[in-house]
Amino acid sequence: MNEQQVVEAEARYGSGVYRPQPIALVRGEGARLWDADGREYIDCMSGHGVLNLGHAHPAVVDAVSQQAGKLWICPGGFCNDRRAELLTELVRVAPDGLERAFLCNSGTEAVEAALKFARIATGRTGIIAAMRGYHGRTMGALSATWNRAYRDPVAPLVPDVSFVPYNRAEPMDDAITGETAAVILEVVQGEGGVIPGDSGYLRSVESLCRERGALLILDEVQSGFGRTGRMFACEHHDLKPDLLCLAKSIAGGFPMGAVLIGDRVGQLPARIHGSTFGGNPLACAVALASLRTIEADDLPSRAAQLGDRLRRGLESIGSPLIRTVRGLGLMLAIELKAPAMPYLAALAEHGVLALAAGKMVMRFLPPLIISGDEVDAVIEAVAEVLSVEVRADG
Ligand code: PMP
Repeated sequence: MNEQQVVEAEARYGSGVYRPQPIALVRGEGARLWDADGREYIDCMSGHGVLNLGHAHPAVVDAVSQQAGKLWICPGGFCNDRRAELLTELVRVAPDGLERAFLCNSGTEAVEAALKFARIATGRTGIIAAMRGYHGRTMGALSATWNRAYRDPVAPLVPDVSFVPYNRAEPMDDAITGETAAVILEVVQGEGGVIPGDSGYLRSVESLCRERGALLILDEVQSGFGRTGRMFACEHHDLKPDLLCLAKSIAGGFPMGAVLIGDRVGQLPARIHGSTFGGNPLACAVALASLRTIEADDLPSRAAQLGDRLRRGLESIGSPLIRTVRGLGLMLAIELKAPAMPYLAALAEHGVLALAAGKMVMRFLPPLIISGDEVDAVIEAVAEVLSVEVRADG
């Protein structure tokens, strides 16, 4: 299929929920992508934060091919070598106090599991989430997701979920009661506009939860595995979550999710939750290879250094279109004074693919293996694109 045929087939036979841009991506290597017509792009999307190791990393490719010829599936009712190794490694790299893990297949499933575990562990039902927070699209995770455009058309959702402003301690203090099973927060809000949580705020939420017998669920689906300059963003603030939701970059691009479980959760009843594909040996083998590479190559430090370079470069652009530049490590954003989509389309024309995060925000989530020269090329392209005002209608 050529580029046009691919775009037409997706438009005709796809469900319609995505409305993709008319670019057909067919190959990737490192931080580069190519479309069906052979055009090259620098990838600042990483498939929505999935590819911290970049495209086709040799360690990932090798792990897939080694395990693909051995064993793909092993039900949760049996044990498996790769799964055992991964569980051990995940608990080793996890923040203190997280002692076990449930493995699943996506971010939204990790959140579903965490919400269920919190209700089971506390015997309470209340869930407190943050305004602008995003946790996924299945009914439970969606119930804790702020954007009404996603929630309202499918209401009624899971009851007893309330929302409070992010980064404000007082409303949280008022909201957490003896009925609260859990507070769920992103350490850096991703889809909501790349908004880092303040240390003081996050730590006060943690102690309020402890004080009142509620559990703290941190959603690091997007910020985990080195993205923000630490293995997990909660390490910047020395937080000790009771449940830590992970997915996206956990397995080098292979679909996988996990919830790390702290001691305050206690023993979970047998068969209370499960997943056919969760913890399959193929995903576990890739996750192991990915985790070992992230550690061996110290990608969190690389994200911190290159994040600094990208951030300073974006800050130096000085276009009147820019309201602010913010983020942590290689999870960065420019909030514009105008809708972001036309500028993202113009950026694609300049050979850089980046994401939106809300209407006015351009989001940059490049692979952590991106080179310094590629970062500089991104800055140059963004500067060019923001030097000319693009009208929202065209
Ligand atoms: N939580 C966060 C913080 C996310 O960014 C996302 C995805 N953008 C999810 C949960 C849902 O993950 P998935 O799309 O894998 O279900």
